[in-house]
Amino acid sequence: MENYLENTDFGKIREVLDRSGRIIITTHTNPDGDAIGASLAMFRYLRKRSFDVRVIIPDPFPEFLAWLPGSDEILIFEEQQETCREFILGADLIICVDFNNLSRLKELGREVKNSASVKVLIDHHLNPAIDFTYKVSFSKISSTSEIIYDFICESGYAHLMDKEIAECLYTGIATDTGSFSYACNYVKTYLITADLFRLGIDGEHIHRLIYDTYSESRLRLLGYAVSGGLTVLPEFHTAYITLRKNDLEKFNYQVGDTEGVVNYALSIKDINLAALFMERDDEVKVSFRSKGNFSVDTLAREHFNGGGHRNASGANCNTDLKETVDLFLALLPGFREKLKHVYTD
Ligand code: 5GP
Ligand code: MN
Repeated sequence: MENYLENTDFGKIREVLDRSGRIIITTHTNPDGDAIGASLAMFRYLRKRSFDVRVIIPDPFPEFLAWLPGSDEILIFEEQQETCREFILGADLIICVDFNNLSRLKELGREVKNSASVKVLIDHHLNPAIDFTYKVSFSKISSTSEIIYDFICESGYAHLMDKEIAECLYTGIATDTGSFSYACNYVKTYLITADLFRLGIDGEHIHRLIYDTYSESRLRLLGYAVSGGLTVLPEFHTAYITLRKNDLEKFNYQVGDTEGVVNYALSIKDINLAALFMERDDEVKVSFRSKGNFSVDTLAREHFNGGGHRNASGANCNTDLKETVDLFLALLPGFREKLKHVYTD
């Protein structure tokens, strides 16, 4: 694990980077703390190295990440298509962080695909697509932010690491591990985190900014999700939450308001599989979570055209809410035995 970068295209990426003028960093739709944290850490690092660098993302990021240093410079493709297109056209290098397939960029994916630039992937999801020229893809690592830390240090630029980069990386590591409660059994995650504290971050303050900044309506939406919205199926060790469009409207849904909601369904004793189905204008956004060796990456990939990690995955379905939930329910009998006894290896 220590030298995992050596078995990737790390060396090639360093070379390409050194030759690049304009660099774009991008990340997935509906971005979370790791997506934005890793992107902004890379952004600041490359700025400090005097590259012409921009962060362009497909759609808006949640308000609870708006304090991150550099977030005010993020360009949102959905809102500034022409400006973003111009930047992409002039880019030598596009660095894709925290996702594994250009389809996760929605319309922005087409622009990236058609660009003549070198495309690099830095990510920790399973099954990276072939869309990228060079890859650093390592699924055993807590977060893309942790990989970015190694990337900077192994490139010989540890001295450029500062408090602002550390705040971005800490946000990514803390959010992708559920505040150090999953994907966090490696010593190295803590050694890196310790180094981020050495750089002067205030962990308590960061946690308040991320987790204690709910609006009243967000908390009430959570209340609804875990009461009226929740169905528990003890015979399948499964619990799922559905949120219809009118539920979301009633609670004045804002981007990021359902972040973490699915985990409450998984917190029930003996529940090994949890899902959240959210009705959107033209699709249903699905989140899956599991305990132990039940792979929701496989479930999402094989049946919902999605993917992610073994214990956390997602999908965006073009079917309506009822059809999507019915498909999920129809699959459960086939998983009955697997869901009975999950184990951690
Ligand atoms: P969340 O449920 O928090 O949106 O996502 C959980 C995990 O699944 C994240 O690592 C995310 O990147 C991945 N994921 C979410 N939605 C999709 C999707 O539509 N396709 C793929 N391939 N992965 C997804
Ligand atoms: Mn991540």
